[in-house]
Amino acid sequence: MDKQSALQQMIDESGRIVFFGGAGVSTESGIPDFRSVDGLYHQKYDYPPETIISHSFFVENPEAFYKFYKEKMLCLDASPNAAHRKLSELEACGKLSAVITQNIDGFHQAAGSKRVLELHGSIHRNFCMRCGKFYDAAYVRDAAGIPRCSCGGMVKPDVVLYEESLDSDTLQQSVELIAGADMLIVGGTSLAVYPAAGLLRYYRGGKLVVINKSPTPMDQSADLLISGKIGEVLGAVSCR
Ligand SMILES: [Zn+2]
Repeated sequence: MDKQSALQQMIDESGRIVFFGGAGVSTESGIPDFRSVDGLYHQKYDYPPETIISHSFFVENPEAFYKFYKEKMLCLDASPNAAHRKLSELEACGKLSAVITQNIDGFHQAAGSKRVLELHGSIHRNFCMRCGKFYDAAYVRDAAGIPRCSCGGMVKPDVVLYEESLDSDTLQQSVELIAGADMLIVGGTSLAVYPAAGLLRYYRGGKLVVINKSPTPMDQSADLLISGKIGEVLGAVSCR
């Protein structure tokens, strides 16, 4: 049996699939991958991206943070791809319990997914640091320089920056979903980013599928390892 057929058979036999995804899921939508060879690390800025998107840099240099953030992270023109759409379809047909993502672009929800756990937050939620008022992504994009609230406070994206901790409820729910999954599909992530690899250890089933273009630390543990583009592989799956 070829790998695509093996994947389909596993999906056919499952009803509590959890998908765990990373940057690679969105690169096919044109969103740059922070850690890939042609990703942000190789572009020219005054500071390396991992410095700019840290909490201390945000506090000390909000202007430079927002310049980078708006140019490189606030990708409001891109749209979901075949992977996002298929995951939404799998949820709608009762196969998939949830998507757990390391991405902040909101594409899973845009594609129709209902249960999405965003480990690193979302560009679509922004809050005044003084009064807590909500602002959408377009407000941040359209602000000249640092986005300000009507109260004068600075508006901060609900995105987990380096040095910041992940939301504990989101982490706990992710653990429970993974532990209760009858199939776990891991896609588009090198699993290099905390807490990805640690979370996946909670899976106890026998259908761990890894779909990635490059090797991951989970490859040895995978029941099915598919080297390829996530949009093409998932796109070919059917919901039957
Ligand atoms: Zn305010």
